[in-house]
Amino acid sequence: MASPEIEALTQALARLPGLGPRSARRAVLHLIKKREVAMAPLLRALEQVNERLSTCSLCGNVDTSDPCAICADPRRDTRLLCVVEEVADLWALERSRLFPGRFHVLGGRLSALEGVRPEDLAIDTLVTRIAAGGIDEVVLAMNATLEGQTTAHYIAERLEGLPVRLTRLAHGLPVGGELDYLDEGTLSAALKSRTAF
Ligand SMILES: [Zn+2]
Repeated sequence: MASPEIEALTQALARLPGLGPRSARRAVLHLIKKREVAMAPLLRALEQVNERLSTCSLCGNVDTSDPCAICADPRRDTRLLCVVEEVADLWALERSRLFPGRFHVLGGRLSALEGVRPEDLAIDTLVTRIAAGGIDEVVLAMNATLEGQTTAHYIAERLEGLPVRLTRLAHGLPVGGELDYLDEGTLSAALKSRTAF
């Protein structure tokens, strides 16, 4: 029987996505056994991220600086903007290393069922950002779900009349698929063969 402190740690870990009570117990045992090489670096990393965590005021990415590392990178193609639902989607595309432009995180998708309206998402800031000029192409990289596509269509309507080319991810995106769960090959194929929206 573990102490209340160890039990609390186990329960906190078990609530993380992808873990569960069983994996959490294994993780805790590992941390206890490898205190110096596993627990200490984990503690330091958690503290540092927690202290510096911020949301990028330009794109909505989560990083330890504002603007985030992507927005601050001078090698990025500022004429190319990729719109995603969540930070997880941005990170998934970033892992593929194929998108040279910048991003815009909506913070969700339109959903009548869950009561998510346009004003709940970063859509106004997206329109403002694009209306300010300097962007040639906007990639609508919403998930291939009904709600994702509804969101993409709504954004396309809002951007009507602005001098930008709208494209979307194509090829290999499974219907109902979420970007975060795709392997990098599928994701890079979808990005390479993006089509006009
Ligand atoms: Zn940013």
